[in-house]
Order: sequence, then structure tokens, then C-alpha cells
Amino acid sequence: MAREIHVLITCEHGGNRVPKAYRALFHGHEALLASHRGYDPGALTLARELARHFEAPLRVATVSRLLIDLNRSIGHPRLYSEATRPAPEAVRRQILARHYLPYRDEVEAHIAGALERGLRVIHICAHSFTPVLDGEVRRADVGLLYDPRRPGEAALCRRWQAALRAEAPGLRVRRNYPYRGQSDGFTAYLRRRFPDPGYAGIELEVNQRLVLQGGRRWPATRGALIRALQRCLDVGAGGS
Ligand SMILES: [Zn+2]
Repeated sequence: MAREIHVLITCEHGGNRVPKAYRALFHGHEALLASHRGYDPGALTLARELARHFEAPLRVATVSRLLIDLNRSIGHPRLYSEATRPAPEAVRRQILARHYLPYRDEVEAHIAGALERGLRVIHICAHSFTPVLDGEVRRADVGLLYDPRRPGEAALCRRWQAALRAEAPGLRVRRNYPYRGQSDGFTAYLRRRFPDPGYAGIELEVNQRLVLQGGRRWPATRGALIRALQRCLDVGAGGS
């Protein structure tokens, strides 16, 4: 019998807030903070709607990724940004203890608890990507990032993509684009702790062009993403 599904929604790059204690580090970095490097526009709205629809637990961060990047592992050269890398080690350690470990540990413990209860965890991380990076135009509206070596994740993303074709035929959906799902990130870390198919970690990436242009397309896309995922879960989440 298929295991019951537990959906979990997280949002690592939801905002560009800088706590007061660290504001001095950001003098001269105001433009960077407001840019796509500072946060993922639209990701928070997407995460909240997903959580509401699936009645799923939601963990979001609204502190800027330029303080510390929740989607990078400890030791990664871009865990800290140009604003925080020059800070004294004691300050960086404090940032890690206050803003990184509580988030990551809470999500990890939540997943461990659900798996202990015999549930299958589908963890969706809501992100958005800049339409042009280093002069390269990204040719997708939505990216589904997963580890191709994990059959449960691969099957879910194939089905989600197929369901999106039916829900929103004009939407350009690509798998493992514009990034590779197995690259360093929160889901990559969690996969090392939790085997397939009990844990499936998917990064949902939306093109910020959709978010920033305004109009009907952005809410329509969110609706299509949710309905398509619901279809997949109705048929057993692609677990085979
Ligand atoms: Zn992101």
C-alpha cells in the first residue's frame, strides 16, 4: 500500500530584510539588497498559496540571503555574501547560530518526525530566478529541480510537468533548469539524510519576469502549479 503523503512547503529566499544588528554591514550594498541577489521576488506568495492549498506546514525566511544563504551548505563559498564575508568570524558565527541553524534544523527535524510516523514527505521549496543572468536569457517560465538519481523525485517532476502541460499549455516548464537539482542546496543536504522515496525534495523555480510584469499571468501560473501538483498527488505522487 502506498504511504500517506505529507506535503511540506519552505521558502529560503522569501525577503530582503536585514536585522538591525547587521545593518552596518550592508552600507553601500543597498542596490544589491534590492536586486534578485537579495531575495526571490514572488517566492513568498507562491509558498503561502501552496501551503494554504495543501494545508501544509510552511517555514519561510524573510531575512535576505545576503546575510546568510539558507540554500547553501556550511563551507560553501557563497554561504556568506560580499556584505557579510568580510565580517569578523565571531559575527559570522552569530549569524549562523541565529539565522541559519534554527531554520535548517527545524525543517530537518520536521521531516524526520513525519518519516518516523510512516509518512512520505514531499518537500517543495519555492524559489524564483532572474530572467537574464550574465547576459544569458533563461528560456523557461518554470523550473522543477530534483536529483535524477532519485526515482521518486524524477517521477513526481515528470508527472508535474505533464500535468502543467494540460493546465497551462503556454507555460514553458523545464526540468533541472535553470539549475541542476543535485547542486549544493538545502534539498541536496536533506537528501543525504533521508532516502528516496520517503523524502522527495523539489525546488520549484519561477521566472521573475512572470512576477514583475504584473497582470493576470502570475496569479494564473500559481493556480496552474497548484492544480497540477494536486493532480499528481491524487494519483499517488508519482511514487512507483
Ligand atoms: Zn532562491
